[in-house]
Amino acid sequence: MSLLETVSQPPWPWQEAVWRRLREQKQSGALAHAYLFIGDRGTGRTEFAREFANFLVCDDPDAGRACYRCRSCRSGGADHHPDLLLILPEEGKKDIGVGRIRELAEFLSLNSFSGSGRVAIIPQAEALTLSASNALLKTLEEPAAGATLLLTACSPGGLLPTIRSRCQLLGLPGPEPEAAIAWLRERLPDSHSVSDERLRDLLEVHGNRPLELAPALSAGQEPGFFALRKMLLDLLEGRIGILQAAATAAKIGESEVFEHLSRVSTILIRGLANGDVRGAENRALAQALPESGELGFLLEFHRQVTTARKLLAGPGNPNPQLLLESIFRLWRGQEPRAVE
Ligand SMILES: [Zn+2]
Repeated sequence: MSLLETVSQPPWPWQEAVWRRLREQKQSGALAHAYLFIGDRGTGRTEFAREFANFLVCDDPDAGRACYRCRSCRSGGADHHPDLLLILPEEGKKDIGVGRIRELAEFLSLNSFSGSGRVAIIPQAEALTLSASNALLKTLEEPAAGATLLLTACSPGGLLPTIRSRCQLLGLPGPEPEAAIAWLRERLPDSHSVSDERLRDLLEVHGNRPLELAPALSAGQEPGFFALRKMLLDLLEGRIGILQAAATAAKIGESEVFEHLSRVSTILIRGLANGDVRGAENRALAQALPESGELGFLLEFHRQVTTARKLLAGPGNPNPQLLLESIFRLWRGQEPRAVE
């Protein structure tokens, strides 16, 4: 990797403060044995942890980040360096099982190749099974000398409290809209003509998660959920039916769809309440709503979306297709079949 390319590596502007703190800990020999980075998905928390791991094994960390020139850096970073281990679920599985944590314990017990100490990264620590969590706890209770463990998660609530309490917790903020736009711009091909207003709109609808937008945008594609607002408009104006909308939504994935419906209705409610609906697609939707009581309607819609999301996340095993049909029926203004 050239020095120029390292510019596009983390830490990104919204992560600088946390990076600075870690760098100071490293320089003063005050690193913790284990860190838990908490941050929203799509904002680069795992990339941050991997880059920090690269920095920890770099032979020349004077610049305050991995140099990308030394032997350690050139050996390929988190994927190939013999002192770095990435703990992911086994092929085809969603959970991180106890077997992976046994591998981790063995890895950490061995001597470091470069003398810099061993570093292991567990992205999505929520994926640890209960027995894996308990095994990890032992590793955390008796840390190997010089070893550093980097965990990342969306929220600390998904982890055993005993694991949380043995890690130094660091919140990784997401980007401000302007920083996210600048970040996306750097990654889009020059030929890609998309206005800042459009990028701001897409980021807002997608919860300010630039890392999740970048692959589709740079490939010139629109992910399925981009079409959701158009679908809502088509429904309101009678161009598509409820069953067709529900079938399209099922292809995107119901939890993704309900998450977006929640965000879109929030954006509309806020815009209408402030008398300033931003973004062409949001304005078109707001205008197509029946003028009388539109805010009350949206609040009820949002409430039902929230209920449906809770049902989907709960143990009741609801029929997602029926939930989608019900919410689209409500959106079109027909009497809804009760979601609750
Ligand atoms: Zn280096």
